[in-house]
Amino acid sequence: MELTFLGGATTVTGSQYLLDIGTARVLVDCGMFQGSPNETERNRIAFAYEPREIDALLLTHAHLDHCGLIPHLVASGFRGPIFATAGTNELTGIVLMDAAKLQTEFAKRKRRERRRHAPGGQPAGNVEADLRAQGPVVKTEIEEPLYTEADVVAAMGHFRQVSYGAQVDVARGMTARFHDAGHILGSAIIEIHAGGRTIVCSGDLGRQHSPIVRDPTVLGDADYVLIESTYGGREHEPEAKAIEILAETVNAVNDAGGVLLVPSFAIGRTQDMIWELDQLVAAKRIPQLPLYLDSPMASKATDIYRRHPECFDDEMRALLATKEDPLDYPGAKITNDPDESRAIKDAPRPYMIVASNGMLTGGRVLAHLRDLIDDPNATLLFVGYQGEGTLGAYLQAGTKRAVIDGVERDVRCRVRSIDGFSAHADEPGLLGWIGAFAKGRRAGDAGFPRQVFIVHGDPDAEHALEPKVRALGFATKIPTWRERVTLD
Ligand SMILES: [Zn+2]
Repeated sequence: MELTFLGGATTVTGSQYLLDIGTARVLVDCGMFQGSPNETERNRIAFAYEPREIDALLLTHAHLDHCGLIPHLVASGFRGPIFATAGTNELTGIVLMDAAKLQTEFAKRKRRERRRHAPGGQPAGNVEADLRAQGPVVKTEIEEPLYTEADVVAAMGHFRQVSYGAQVDVARGMTARFHDAGHILGSAIIEIHAGGRTIVCSGDLGRQHSPIVRDPTVLGDADYVLIESTYGGREHEPEAKAIEILAETVNAVNDAGGVLLVPSFAIGRTQDMIWELDQLVAAKRIPQLPLYLDSPMASKATDIYRRHPECFDDEMRALLATKEDPLDYPGAKITNDPDESRAIKDAPRPYMIVASNGMLTGGRVLAHLRDLIDDPNATLLFVGYQGEGTLGAYLQAGTKRAVIDGVERDVRCRVRSIDGFSAHADEPGLLGWIGAFAKGRRAGDAGFPRQVFIVHGDPDAEHALEPKVRALGFATKIPTWRERVTLD
C-alpha cells in the first residue's frame, strides 16, 4: 500500500493525499493551493497521476484548500464517485462556483491589464513577475481560469452523499467511515479500511466548545494517522478572553467613530463571528453597530447551515429553541451586488464589515482594505489563521507597507488578532485528539498507530508539533510535497 502527499505537506493549503492499495487508487481531498505565488503556481502543475485512473475521491470538507481543484480533476478525466457528507456536498457547490467566477473575472482583468500595459498590442513582459517583485502580491490565478462554472456543474454530478458513522464501500477493497470533525458544517475525519489496515485522515480538526458545530470526534484505533497541524506550537487564548478582546475592539471602534473590518472565511468563521457579535449585543456588552455582511457566498452558506440543524451542537440547539435565529445579527445588511459593496464606504460611521476571504488572498475584503488601510480610525481584525506568505500574514506581523492589487500602500489602520475564535484546534487540542490513540496501550499493540504523519501546517508549526506527538510514543514523519511512503 502506498501513500503520496500531493498537498497539505509543509503547507496549510492544497490538501491532497493519494492512497494506492493495488486494487484501487483513491484520493483524499483535492484542494487548491492558496497564498504566495510559489504556492499558487502548484495549481497549474499537471496532476501527479492520470486522473482517469483514480477510482474515487473522499472529501473531508468544503473549504477551497480541500476541494478547490475538483472541477479541474474532473475536467482532466476523473470519472469516479466523490464521497462527502450532505453539508459538505451543498457547501462545496457554492465554494466551487464562487472559485470559478473569481478565476474567470481575474483572468479577464489580467488580459485587460496586459493590453493596457502594451500599447499597440505588444506583450509588456511578464505582468505577474513585475507584480511579484513588489512583495506580497495578491494573486489567485493567471490569464486562463483553471476551470469554469460549467466544469463545476459537471464535477458536482460526481458527488455521493455519506452519513456520519456509516461504513461505505468506496472502491474495490476499500471502505471508509466519516466522523464529525467539528471544524465547519459537514466537516469529516475520514477513517479508511483497506488491506487489513486502518488509516485515519484528520481533515481539519475543530476546536472544543466552538459555537454552532459539535466537538471533533475522538477515535481510538488506527494503523496510520494523518494529523493536521495548523496551530502546532500555539495555544488559543481562552474563549472568554477572545470574547473580551472582540468586545473591546468593537467598543473602541464605536468610540472613535471608525470602521471595523473583519476578514473572514465565508464558511465557518463568518457564521461564528455573527453568532459571537449577536451574543455580545444581546448581553449589552457592545452597542449594536450596523453590520455589513459583504460576502454573497457567506449568506448562501448561512442558509445551508440553517438547513442542517442535525449538525448543530447542544448549545446551538438550546439557542434555537429559545431564540429565532442565532445565525442572524439584528439588522445586518447583506450586500449581494458589487454596487452595494462599493457603497459601504459612504455609510455613516461607526460600522462593521465582515467580508471574505479570511487570509486576504482575494475576494471583496480587498476592496475594503484598499479604502481603509491608511485610515487610522479603521481597525483590521483577524479572527483566523493567516498562511505563510499571505498578505494577511504580513499585516499581522506588523508590516508598514503593503501591496494591494499591485499598488503599494502605507498601513495606518490598527491591526488586531484574535486566535480564540479559530475553527481549528490549537496544539493542546491536537495533542488531546492524537493522544486518544495511545490511551491504555503501547507501541506494538493492536490499534496503536505505527506512524503519525504531521500534515497541513506551515513548517514551523509542523516542527513544533512533531516532538510532542513523538513524546506520546508515536513514530512520526513530516512528509514533503509529492513524497511517497509505503504503508506495511
Ligand atoms: Zn478547513
